[in-house]
Amino acid sequence: MTEDELREEISADPELGTIYREASIALENAADSSAIESVRVDFLGRKGSLSALLQGIKELPQDERRRAGRLGNYLKSWLERSLEEKGNKLRRQELESTLSQQRLDITLPGRSMPYGTRHLLSRIIEEIEDIFIGMGYRVVEGPEVELDYYNFEALNTPEWHPSKSLSDTFYVDMPGGEYDDVLLRTQTSPVQIRVMETTPPPLYVISPGKAYRHDVPDATHSPMFHQVEGLAVDEDITLGDLKGTLEHFAKRMFGEDRSVRFRPHFFPFTEPSAEVDVSCNICGGTGCRVCKGTGWLEILGAGMVDPNVFEYVGYDPEAISGFAFGMGVERIALLKYGVPDIRYFFDNDLRLLGQY
Ligand SMILES: [Zn+2]
Repeated sequence: MTEDELREEISADPELGTIYREASIALENAADSSAIESVRVDFLGRKGSLSALLQGIKELPQDERRRAGRLGNYLKSWLERSLEEKGNKLRRQELESTLSQQRLDITLPGRSMPYGTRHLLSRIIEEIEDIFIGMGYRVVEGPEVELDYYNFEALNTPEWHPSKSLSDTFYVDMPGGEYDDVLLRTQTSPVQIRVMETTPPPLYVISPGKAYRHDVPDATHSPMFHQVEGLAVDEDITLGDLKGTLEHFAKRMFGEDRSVRFRPHFFPFTEPSAEVDVSCNICGGTGCRVCKGTGWLEILGAGMVDPNVFEYVGYDPEAISGFAFGMGVERIALLKYGVPDIRYFFDNDLRLLGQY
């Protein structure tokens, strides 16, 4: 039987013919893809009229069953095909009308999110670490809340030393009265003592971190600031080793053509002690506003470790020697990048921090 013949026979059948005509009209009237779906449910769904009719075929007598089965199955596949074709056509039309109504200008620039950057001080600390790690140093850290013993006494700082006064040091009240000598460390130097107490020489360490002093904030002072402390202890360490080490550091940090000079100074825990200057990286040593016309910038304090300090930690000052140095991270950053005021580092103004 051809399709035309099948359809003719379906039309002539009272029940199949009714379903065929109703389905044709419903398909014709379906105006969108959701209407197509409800036509499918009405005829082919679990309770649909064609489904019910196909269910009933197996109740028919054998001779009618074959004919009804063939016609019913044809009607079902015709309806499925028609639903598919009409559905595709309607979905295509819906997409076209959506595209023509909702124009999206893909040439408009997007809204960009600002990138964060690492804080300049963090990057300077990393740079200092890298330079010393390259010379075989290890990075160590210590507590910011410290005992008087580590911050002063073991560093050979006598009771009468002015830096111990309440006007310079933040002392911490501890509950229970068990400790009366707790403070915020005024320098990173106590880490030297803590490392030497637990590690036998030779020792090559640097210790970056925060320190605290009772300073009124101004262009060059902040009550919280960062230091990097360095310590080398070994057999036969000399002042020449210290000078070579700091010269290497200054060239790596401020430029290959920099030189350093030592000016005699006093620190309780080193003897001899020196303040170390680097030739001005702004004017190259001829004198400018930043170096106040001298051609030199003070960058750190250093010296040979006082034998008394070695005795505090149980090192034998006859067998070993060492040098120590300490530098202010903010000062290095001010000099290297020409930042005019230390307070800028802590204002968290992204317009400034983003420049470096
Ligand atoms: Zn200068």
